[in-house]
Amino acid sequence: MTWPRPGSRLALQGLAPKMTQMATPTDARVPVRKAGRVSSSRPALSTIGDSDLAALLRELGQPSWRARQLRDATWHPYVSGFEEIRQLPGGLRAELGGRLRFSTAAVTSERVADAGLTLKLLCALEGPQTVETVAMESPARGASGRRATVCVSTQVGCAVGCPFCATGRMGLRRSCTPAEVVDQVRLAGQALSRRALGPVTHVVYMGMGEPLAAYETTVASLRVLVAAGGISPRRITVSTSGVVPGIRRLATEGLPVTLAVSLHAASDALRDRLVPLNRAHPLDGLVAAAGAYARATGRRLSLEWCLIGGVNDGLDQAAGLVGIARRLGAHVNVIPMNRIEGSPWGPPPAAVGRAFLRHLTGAGVTVTVRDTRGGEAEAACGQLRAALEPRRQLRPDGTLTPQRPVRRGAPIRAENGSHPAGRGDRPTSGGPQGP
Ligand code: SAH
Ligand code: SF4
Repeated sequence: MTWPRPGSRLALQGLAPKMTQMATPTDARVPVRKAGRVSSSRPALSTIGDSDLAALLRELGQPSWRARQLRDATWHPYVSGFEEIRQLPGGLRAELGGRLRFSTAAVTSERVADAGLTLKLLCALEGPQTVETVAMESPARGASGRRATVCVSTQVGCAVGCPFCATGRMGLRRSCTPAEVVDQVRLAGQALSRRALGPVTHVVYMGMGEPLAAYETTVASLRVLVAAGGISPRRITVSTSGVVPGIRRLATEGLPVTLAVSLHAASDALRDRLVPLNRAHPLDGLVAAAGAYARATGRRLSLEWCLIGGVNDGLDQAAGLVGIARRLGAHVNVIPMNRIEGSPWGPPPAAVGRAFLRHLTGAGVTVTVRDTRGGEAEAACGQLRAALEPRRQLRPDGTLTPQRPVRRGAPIRAENGSHPAGRGDRPTSGGPQGP
């Protein structure tokens, strides 16, 4: 993606490539297919509440300070099971394994791109289902320090069905549980650590699924990432296709995360086609809810615009976008469409893309052109999963089923908690950092 000319005011940045307790959609009008079940009854270590963990430790005759050891182990860069928590007596490790799940997800495939700075993980969940998680290391540049961003999935598939999105084509299988979202961040942090990258500084809810259609999952996982993972809400972005009741509710949660609204069209006629949810929640209501969110949280909004050649790249749409961005005081992220299999759509020619961008910047709108990082790793939403499909599955006991042949594309390696970088290469404290 090379639209902006040298010296242009437009930044070119990496976008988190787009990559279940079943959440009930907050809005009955979101066309959600009946989702599958999540089986295991053992609570997840990453999301068990303090009082429940304390009660469990009491029941096992353990002192209360074991809770701290378990919390530390959850975010340790290399520990991937109770049996690896050396501070615990052997018998207790086994007992805990029978009562809690150390992880609700397991990495079955890892692809690298961008000279090793983007890691695209396929995570097996119970069910069996898989989701994509992406970790992106961004070295320090100018005044901005280094960051490591993890892009999480909140659903297996998505019911919204945007025609340019690989995930939308899957339909909805089920929503993730809060633990499955938190464990994606944990596993991505470990994957970065193995490559001497990380720790995680930012999280974006821009993977598979519609975060506000999995509202309970999204909010519960946000609370854990902030409280236990130590990630400031200001370093978290939730992207939505426009679940208006969800936006209004999120504004009341006391979680001032950045909201990214996937706009893609500035007229209802076009948006009805590109984001079918628009038929239930047209632009007027969406823009009003987004504005209310910004006022309630004090956070600047982002508007996402997947630029599709011949579809939403006209100057009439650019003018509409300028109007909405100005009204909301929002930043605009333009994402040249990442081609997906079976769709004739793609990014516009460079000259058209540049004209679109010029229109925005000329009107004083701040714009970032997002390059979907990890293109070599089939990194657009749902693409890695579509390429690999579930080849290994997570059993309820946390082990993976055997490897099956790759149908298309070759992962760099498949793994299940292996630590190629070797233990001890990284300090023992780790995990996401606060601001
Ligand atoms: N469902 C939410 C969050 C996940 S999508 C949402 O739609 O906002 C994250 C972003 O990736 C969205 O802005 C989405 O429109 C974009 N996206 C999806 N498929 C894409 C593609 N093929 N090319 C470029 N961007 C895409
Ligand atoms: Fe769902 Fe977002 Fe993809 Fe649309 S772009 S189908 S809302 S994941």
